[in-house]
Parts: sequence; structure tokens; C-alpha cells
Amino acid sequence: MTITLPERTVPQHGEYDVIVAGGGFGGVAAALAAARNGAKTCLIEKSATLGGLGTAGFVVIYLPICDGFGHQVSFGIVEELLRLPMKYSPVKPNGAWDKPQDATIEELKAHRYELIYHPATMSLGMERVLLDAGVTIFYDTLITDIVKDATGTITHVVVENKSGCGVFATKFVVDGTGDADLCKYAEEECEIAKLNKLAAWHYSLDVDNKIELRPQSVHPYNSKDHVAHPCYDGTDFRQVSEHLIRSHELVLNDTNLRNKKAIEETGKERFFPAFVPSMASFRMTRRIVAPYTMTEADMHVWHDDAVGIFSDWRKSGPVYALPYRALYAQRTPNLITAGRCISTTGDTWDVARVIPVCSISGEAAGTAAALCLQNNIQCFADLNVAALQAQLVNAGVKLDKALVENIYG
Ligand SMILES: Cc1cc2nc3c(=O)[nH]c(=O)nc-3n(C[C@H](O)[C@H](O)[C@H](O)COP(=O)(O)OP(=O)(O)OC[C@H]3O[C@@H](n4cnc5c(N)ncnc54)[C@H](O)[C@@H]3O)c2cc1C
Repeated sequence: MTITLPERTVPQHGEYDVIVAGGGFGGVAAALAAARNGAKTCLIEKSATLGGLGTAGFVVIYLPICDGFGHQVSFGIVEELLRLPMKYSPVKPNGAWDKPQDATIEELKAHRYELIYHPATMSLGMERVLLDAGVTIFYDTLITDIVKDATGTITHVVVENKSGCGVFATKFVVDGTGDADLCKYAEEECEIAKLNKLAAWHYSLDVDNKIELRPQSVHPYNSKDHVAHPCYDGTDFRQVSEHLIRSHELVLNDTNLRNKKAIEETGKERFFPAFVPSMASFRMTRRIVAPYTMTEADMHVWHDDAVGIFSDWRKSGPVYALPYRALYAQRTPNLITAGRCISTTGDTWDVARVIPVCSISGEAAGTAAALCLQNNIQCFADLNVAALQAQLVNAGVKLDKALVENIYG
């Protein structure tokens, strides 16, 4: 059944050069890059914290920015964000930064450039750097729709928050929602992955008040688990709630199982649930179909429009160049994506959905938006890619063909 809502007139809350939808790693990096390149930038986040899955989802492993053979491949905001929690807590990256000169291949493979951090140090640090760069942040504000003009260009985003319904005017939009919500509103072609199995990374407490991260996941690609653990579609509201409720059960079961063992050994319960994620733990939901979609065939392949370089978090060796064409929308001229909803598919989506790659695509998307603005270009596809690459390199990104084409191991 459907009903038609009455038309209504709503307030315009503000006007920005760039609106970034969502404050996960993709959105934060995009907002930071856009603002640092001179654009009046606003980041709109539906929750009360920055970092998305990487903070609210307690997924606190900043996966490697190296190829697993001792070569750092990702540079720029991706490294800046990795180092951010070190400013607010005594965490240290995995040993690779101080690797001994004579490290063996096996030692290099075991110590990749990655960091395990505490969620608040990341989200509070992100807020600081964004405010320092001049980004306006609106929390607790859900983007529910967009308004387009006759050319198909987005002129406004529609929001719901404590003040009710309203709009923000904008020239460029970065979709960093993780779920490609704005691509959906813009009626862009999207792919939906219905692969998500149960996950509930959570913190538990023991009787000595010691906090411990419990990365509980049912392995998403283990087909023999298929019947016991159904797959969830993270773009369907009923399934999102069901996933959350079942993931909470997973936390309780984990605690019960550990206590059963503790009672056998000590006669006492020792473990208690402390914190559960405040967002659903979906790995891949919906992503844009951009002019170029990355696949496994892109491994070690240089692209002339490369805007970042990333490795495979799962194994040492594979390196990819991220093409600019995998980011922007095909039909909506001023819409670009950042984070896990960029155009990658199959196994490569699994490689590209993780925190470092989200930061890399975010920096590229935000920089592209600011450059379009500076050059009075209305369409992301019309941006001079060489100028974008030069600006990224100027900001510390390395776009080195050899890093992508060299095969080690
Ligand atoms: C169980 C699990 C384990 C993982 N393990 C790791 C790991 O160990 N290391 C790693 O690097 N990666 C890991 N990942 C992947 C990684 O955490 C995410 O893919 C990555 O953080 C996604 O970043 P993002 O910015 O694209 O999206 P998200 O983190 O999803 O952020 C999107 C943000 O947008 C906001 N938002 C969404 N819709 C709207 C809207 N309509 N209006 C306003 N705001 C909106 C959300 O509240 C959120 O803050 C894991 C993921 C899962 C689910």
C-alpha cells in the first residue's frame, strides 16, 4: 500500500559549495580535502559521532597502507587519519614503521603498516581536524532526499533533524553514506550486495573492570554456514533491525559461553557486555555503478586517471590504482562517491571497502569537488584529471606507477 504525502514548504538551513553526506572515513577524508582546498564545506551525519563503522561500529583496525613486503603504497590523508589516534592515546602502529633493515620477508608479511585504536580517540580527533579545516558539521541530521534542477544537477539535499524537515543548497555532493543513499535518491544505477552475515564487534568487561574488544563475526564467505546464518540486505529497514537484534543475541551468547567456561574453572561469572555498536555492522550494501567499475583484473594495473593507490588487506602482494572514473556518477553531474560505496565489484569490493581505501577515495572525491568549484566546472566528468592528480600529489599523495606495477614475493 502507498499514500501520497501533502506538498510542504520547508526552511533552507544554509548554502555550501560542497555537502558531504555521512561522516565515516570516506566522508571525513572528503570533507577535509574539500575544505583544505578552499571549498565552503558542510558534513552532514545522521548519528552523534564521526568515523562510521570505524568508531560507532567498533571496527577499530586501521588495515594496512603497505603492500606487505615493506613498501608503503598509500599516502596523504589516509596516513594522517591512521596516525590521528596516536595523538590522543598511547597506541602504536604495528612494528612495520620501525622494521629492522634486515627484516625477512616473513617478518615483513607479519608486520604490515596498520593500527589498532580506541574509537573515541579517532572520532574526537576527526572532529578536531575537520573543525580546524573550517568544515561545518551537523550531527543528528539524516539526509532523506535530494532536489535536482532541469539538467539533473543536485541543487539541494533534504534533511530531517530536531528542527523537522529542511534543505541545504549545494553545488557539489559527496556520497559518503556507505550505502550510496544519495546515489539511490539521484536514481543512479547501483549494485546491491546481499552478502552480509551476522557481525557484532563489541566490548566486554571482566570482573576487574578490564575492557576487551570482541570482534564477533560469522564469516561472510563461509558457504557451509549459509543455512544457520542468513545473509542480510543492509538497504532494507526490516532486515537492518533483524540484523541488529540477532547481533545483540550474538553478544549475549558470546558472554554466556565465556562465563560457562569461567564458572567451570573458577566457579564465578567473569564477563559482562560493556558496549555494543551503535550502527549495524554491514560490510557491503549498495554501491554506485560509475563509468568504471574495478574488478580483480585491475590488480597491478596502472590507470592514467589514478587518484590513489591501495593494497589488499587480506594478503601481501596485490596493489591497485584507484581510477577517478570509479568515483563519480554517470547521470548526475555534480555527484561523486567516497568510501565503501564506490564502483568496485566482486572480490575487489571486499578489498576496497576497508578503512584505508575509504580514506583514499574520500581525499580524491573532496579534492575533485573543490577543483571543479575553482575552475567553474559543473560536472565531475569534465574535470581535468592531470590537474586533480597534481593537486593530490601537492597534498602528499603518491601516484607512482612503479608502486602499482611492481610485483614482489
Ligand atoms: C564486521 C565488520 C568488520 C570490519 N573490519 C574491518 C577492519 O578490521 N578494518 C578495516 O579497515 N575495515 C573493516 N571493515 C570495513 C570498514 O569498517 C568499513 O567499510 C568502512 O569503515 C566504511 O567507511 P565509509 O565511510 O564508507 O562508511 P561508514 O563507516 O558506513 O560511514 C557512513 C556514515 O554515514 C552516515 N550516514 C549513512 N546514511 C546517512 C544519511 N542518509 N544521512 C546522513 N548520514 C548518513 C552513517 O551514520 C555513517 O557515520 C569492517 C566492516 C564490518 C561490518
